[in-house]
Amino acid sequence: MNIDFNKNNDGLVPAIIQDATTKNVLMLGYMNAEAFEKTKETKLVTFYSRSKNRLWTKGEESGNTLQLVDYKLDCDSDSLLISVHPKGPTCHTGTDTCWNEENTPNYGFFSTLEKTIAERVANKDVEKSYVASLFDKGINKIAQKVGEEAVETVIEAMDSNDPLFLYESADLLFHYLMLLQAKGFTLKDIEAELIGRQK
Ligand code: AMP
Ligand code: ZN
Ligand code: ZN
Ligand code: ZN
Repeated sequence: MNIDFNKNNDGLVPAIIQDATTKNVLMLGYMNAEAFEKTKETKLVTFYSRSKNRLWTKGEESGNTLQLVDYKLDCDSDSLLISVHPKGPTCHTGTDTCWNEENTPNYGFFSTLEKTIAERVANKDVEKSYVASLFDKGINKIAQKVGEEAVETVIEAMDSNDPLFLYESADLLFHYLMLLQAKGFTLKDIEAELIGRQK
């Protein structure tokens, strides 16, 4: 791998540190050739610290190390994307990421939908919100709706009408997300269950 350490005439390249599991960006550091070699050798992410003027293995004092999983060079070989398993919070302020974020999994639009459902349930505006009104009818009603949407999905799967199959699948997933939340779970719990079954 040919890393262009001298683009800025300082022997350093930025290294973006990403959680291998959640894909969240945890921090940014700089590496020189020696730091990169040490990272590969020890499997613990090691930077060149511009303030300390020396190699700095992340976690050397705090114990909050970054275990190397994989690395990638960008298109013009002047920055690294390093995927890691973090041990403890990555930022020295004690937060998971250096941008004051929690390092929770992000399922894109589905995470947004989970949040929207939670908001509607909290607001209890049963006149305006379908989600709020369904929750108001209780968990059995939500479970029953999931059953109905599942049956509709099965029926459309047996026909050869793809748009209707997709429509009912979306209904099913949406109602399932509500049931999951009504039972006090999140997609993260389902992920953990499925990961636990991997061989
Ligand atoms: P650590 O490497 O976690 O033992 O922390 C040692 C020192 O490095 C801390 O006192 C901070 O000055 C600095 N440091 C640790 N983590 C970070 C970080 N994520 N970003 C910038 N500086 C950090
Ligand atoms: Zn680049
Ligand atoms: Zn930080
Ligand atoms: Zn439906």
